Amino acid sequence: MRIALRICCLIAVSGWCAAQARPFPGPDVQQIYQRLLPQIEKIPAFDHHAHPAYADDPDVDAMAAPPNASEAMRTRDDNPELVAAAKALFGYPYNDLSAEHSKWLLDKKNELKKQMKGTAYFDSILDKINTESSVANRAMMPDYLDPRRFPWVFFTDSFLWPFNNERETARNADQGIYIPLQEKMLGRWMRQENIIKLPPTLAEYLKFITQVLEDNSRRGGIAMKFEVAYFRPTTFSDPSRAQAEDLYQRYVVGGIPSEREYRTFQDFIFRYLVQEGGRLHLPVHIHTAVGIGDYFNLSQSNIMNLESVIRDPRYAATTFVMIHGGYPLEREAIWLAAMKNVYLDSSFGELTQYPSAFKDTLKMWLETFPDKITFGTDCFPYNQVLGSEESYWLGVQSSRTALAAALAEMISENEITEARALELAHAYLHDTAVKLYEGRVH
Ligand SMILES: [Zn+2]
Repeated sequence: MRIALRICCLIAVSGWCAAQARPFPGPDVQQIYQRLLPQIEKIPAFDHHAHPAYADDPDVDAMAAPPNASEAMRTRDDNPELVAAAKALFGYPYNDLSAEHSKWLLDKKNELKKQMKGTAYFDSILDKINTESSVANRAMMPDYLDPRRFPWVFFTDSFLWPFNNERETARNADQGIYIPLQEKMLGRWMRQENIIKLPPTLAEYLKFITQVLEDNSRRGGIAMKFEVAYFRPTTFSDPSRAQAEDLYQRYVVGGIPSEREYRTFQDFIFRYLVQEGGRLHLPVHIHTAVGIGDYFNLSQSNIMNLESVIRDPRYAATTFVMIHGGYPLEREAIWLAAMKNVYLDSSFGELTQYPSAFKDTLKMWLETFPDKITFGTDCFPYNQVLGSEESYWLGVQSSRTALAAALAEMISENEITEARALELAHAYLHDTAVKLYEGRVH
């Protein structure tokens, strides 16, 4: 009884919900939304996952989209919202994106690129959408992105593919595109470290991997990224070093490992990279949603497969960012954030869903672990018309409106106060992610 009374007093003093939370928002929800939205629009954002690039830049990713892949409705280039993006960013004067009208947009972008030298063009895009800085998750950094505003997140999947990849490449049309690009990326890391041939022992191969991580960190890299779900199942066994040594020595000189042997070796390398991420203060970003390409296997890359790695106390020093928050399994995914070192990024969810649905995802996350979720757009240069610029705009707009709507419902349903809602908005849009990088980003 005494405890219950004390809780009542605390609630009254701190001005928190005066009554029990209710299951429906009240008639004030729209007003609250209208009040919150302009305040949320004023919060400078940190975009935790994005691929800024000009449309013709092959270094935007360490893989490429397979041709003719199915696209969810909202991410198709006939989405009428892109007209709003073009109007907001470039003053587009038309109400459709017909071929004839799109030419105006292309000319306008080219003119601006010519006027704005160096890094000014993309800086101006961030200014227009009130994003203070944005991760550039790219194969390599170009000279047209200012590294102070576009911190680099580099790809580390290629270290998993050092052997003969004939079998993997032949599996289906998507792998036929992805795997050779991993070989190419591994070759680029080798050239970076002045290595002509892969070393003969596992110990030396691991040393080479660490050198790349350290060099990339010195060159401004703030995190490593895996898109491994595109290439193989994300269930990782826990092989011994002796097993990996044996496999490396056997296959680095040639020969085709069996699927099982190759995966065992990759499991060891994946865990090595995760451990190094902790030691070198490089958070580990992992693609955890469904992905592009018709052959993407969702059940084999289910975010929950990663539990055996991220709940392993050996990796407590490693910060994990679950990119795309496990979508469409975001309800299960939020419980992974119970781990102190695990965070969820909401990018892609806000592009593939409309704000009405994305609002419900954010609300559920905010009601569970609000201090463990971060904002991202997953902007990408899909084509000349739907560029990084437009997808930045659509991602930011969608996230801010969905966030305001989720918080308005929570306030109206007596879950939180308006002051607390604004704290949560700052945390999600900026503060939580920025804290992960120990002063390296702002
Ligand atoms: Zn991405």
